[in-house]
Order: sequence, then structure tokens, then C-alpha cells
Amino acid sequence: MALFVEKFGGTSVGTVERIHAVADRVARSRRSGNDVVVVVSAMAGETDRLLSLAQEIESHTGSATAGHAGHNAAQTKATGREIDALLATGEQVTVALLVLALQRQSVEALSYTGSQVPIRTDPVHGKARILDIDPTRVRADLDAGHVVVIAGFQGVDPDGNITTLGRGGSDTTAVAMAAALRADECRIYTDVDGVYTADPRIVPAARRLERITVEEMLELSSLGTKVLQTRSVEFAGKYGVPLRVLSSFTDGPGTLITHEAKDMEQPLIAGIAYNGDEAKLTIRGVPDEPGVASRIFGPISEAHINVDMIIQNVGRDESTDLTFTVKRDEYEKARALLDRVAAELGARDVVGDTNLAKISIVGVGMRSHAGIASTMFEVLAKNGINIELISTSEIKISVGIADKYLELAVRALHKAFGLDSSPEEEPLDTAVVD
Ligand code: ADP
Ligand code: ASP
Ligand code: MG
Repeated sequence: MALFVEKFGGTSVGTVERIHAVADRVARSRRSGNDVVVVVSAMAGETDRLLSLAQEIESHTGSATAGHAGHNAAQTKATGREIDALLATGEQVTVALLVLALQRQSVEALSYTGSQVPIRTDPVHGKARILDIDPTRVRADLDAGHVVVIAGFQGVDPDGNITTLGRGGSDTTAVAMAAALRADECRIYTDVDGVYTADPRIVPAARRLERITVEEMLELSSLGTKVLQTRSVEFAGKYGVPLRVLSSFTDGPGTLITHEAKDMEQPLIAGIAYNGDEAKLTIRGVPDEPGVASRIFGPISEAHINVDMIIQNVGRDESTDLTFTVKRDEYEKARALLDRVAAELGARDVVGDTNLAKISIVGVGMRSHAGIASTMFEVLAKNGINIELISTSEIKISVGIADKYLELAVRALHKAFGLDSSPEEEPLDTAVVD
């Protein structure tokens, strides 16, 4: 008997009809002899609705909202605790509704919150990391013939507080449960029928991939492809969880995230990722001496702000400029910290730009091919798009550009690298490196 973890995202459980459709799918899987653990998200739009309620309350009382500059650490933690308690209710609704729908079909099922499993996390509210899952109780219910339906996105910290895993976190709940239970496959059911060469909402010519390596998927996710939360792909890689992305609306093979790259025909570029919500900060005229970077980035990392691309200019007159990018919603917080550090260091000034987008091309084929970066730059130049920052790794190249060019750039690159479903012209030439 196979064990499957089946995860259904917000749109897949967005209405009562959709919850019945999910119950049909789970019932079929169960009746064909599988053990099934289901993980569900909140109904589409619910997490956003809850967040805006919290914002309304906070702005009404005149206090700063969570994450805003000026909040001290204790307040942020206290606020984060309550926001997590609030957000976790979204998933609690869908687990109960789905179990009721399954019971109508005479499928024995039980709902679980994260803390009932328990899914233990660290205490970082809003972006908690899973530390450990005790699968004993879930296993016992499966052995007793139940379908187990688990609330995604939530866990419990060492002090018993409810935590949440960051937006899109139900994917991580599903893969982590699959790892803890050594499931035969973790199936992520969503509103697209697999992983595409680019977001099909932006690039109509995007193609579904039959397979993609875990390495490429990890890059794509961390660079903005939101079909899977990055942490979920990390879990799949670390624990070797067989992972598949499929549609909850249609039947089909979906996309398999593979751990074995060797049998695969390697396309040059597997896909293109983008993130339209970036911001850039530059601290100008800082002393060019040891310890400066750590003085700048220390407070930023203590505030749990993720820094992405970093450029330090060549120093002149014993001073230099340093530019880095952060997510746009962390810009104000980063800016306040940087203004403070700039004053302490005697830097000339700080300038910022919140209209930045990042586009990345990803593929393990880059290891054996040269000329990919120059092709990318050439395509952007031909379209009159200025590159503001560049960063590369072994299997990806990212550029920072003005966000108004995002769609144009993604479509042009998709076509130039031969990813369009019916390419009108041959992909550009690149040389093979031996
Ligand atoms: P869910 O609510 O099921 O978790 P998400 O909205 O998180 O679904 O993820 C699915 C969405 O991811 C799709 O609707 C699609 O627009 C988007 N997406 C972005 N990039 C890609 C890609 N390369 N392949 C497939 N989907 C993508
Ligand atoms: N409901 C949460 C969100 O909207 C978690 C998830 O959907 O995976 O981010
Ligand atoms: Mg999602």
C-alpha cells in the first residue's frame, strides 16, 4: 500500500464546490488502496483578508504595523505572535470543512492543526522554520484506516505558541510531512498543471516541464517562482522526497521534481523566474576599510531582513559605495537601519530605489555552456533595458532592472532561449565548453 501526501492550495479549496471536488479526489485516492495524508491551505484570499484585518486594527489604534520601522524587538515579537494566531485560523477552517466533506462520502477522516501533529518550529513568527515533526499520532490514525487532514502553514514553537511558516508555507508542511512519514510521493495540487518554463500568467507561450531537477527547482523557487515555496524544495532535496506538481482541476502527469539528473536530457535553460517586488539601497561614501561590511549587514541580519544581491564599488579616496537589494516590503525597515549605520560610519548619504525587479534564468546546462550571460545581456540591450545589478551562480544568472520592463524582459528572454512552445525563430547560438 502506497502512502501519498496530497497538498491542495488556496484556489483548490477556494469555494465549497472546490472543497467537494478535493474530497472526491482524496476519496478516489483512498479507495484505490492508498494511505492518504492531506495538507490544505486557507481558502483563496483568506490569508490576505486576515492580514488586512490586523492592519486595520493596528492603524486604528495609531500604533505602527508589524515590521514597520520604529518597532522594538519585543513589540514585534508580541505582534507577530498574535498575527500568527490570527493567520493560522484560515487553514483551521479548511481542514474541518474538508473532513466534513470526506465524511459525507463515508471516508473516515480526521483534521489536525499544526500543534496537534505536532509540527515543531523555531519561535520566529511569520517565517518560522520546521525543527522536527513527530509522526506517531498521524501514523496511528493512518493505521486505523483514517485519512489525516493537516492544516498547512502552521506549527508550534518550544513555548507552545502558534507559528506560521511564511507565505506559501503549506507546500513546506506537505513536503516535511512526506519526509517524516517516508511517503512514496508528495503531490502538490494547484491551479496550474505543473511547473512551466516561466509563469504562464506572464508568458502565454510557456511550456509545462515533464521533469525538472531539484537543484533547478530550488533556484527557480528562491528566485521568485511561487508555485513551490523554497523551503519545501529544500526539504525535498535534503530528505529525497519524491515531489510532483499537478493540477487539482484537471488530470495529468504534472511535473516531477527529480533527484537524479543523469538520465535526463538537459535543456540549456530550464526556466525563467522573476520577482517584481525588489528594492535597492546604496550607502555612498563609506570608509573603505576592514569591518565596514559587517557593521552594515550585522544590524540588517539581526532584524531578519534578507539581503540578496550586493555590489561594492572599487574604492576611491579611501571611501566606497555599497549597493544591495532587499524585498520591497522590507525596504523601509532596512532604510531606517542603514540611515543609522551611515551616521555612525560617517558615510556621505543613503539612496534608495523601490522600483526594481529581478529576472533570473536557471539551468544545469549552464555548467557546460558558455555565452549564456552574454546572450542574456544582448537580449536585454536589444530591448532597451538597462541592467542595474548582476549576480550569478553555477546554474543561474540574475539581473536587476527597472520593474516597468519586467514582462517585456521575461517574454524576450523566454523566446531568445528557445523556450516558447512554438518558437518562431531558432534559439540563439551558444558555444559548448569542453
Ligand atoms: P497554491 O494556492 O495552489 O499554493 P500558488 O498561487 O502558490 O498556488 O502557485 C501557483 C501559481 O504559481 C500559478 O497560478 C502560477 O501563476 C504561478 N507560477 C509562477 N511561476 C510559475 C511556473 N514557472 N510554473 C507554474 N506556475 C508558476
Ligand atoms: N495560506 C497561506 C498563504 O496564503 C499558506 C499557503 O497558502 O501555502 O500564504
Ligand atoms: Mg502556494
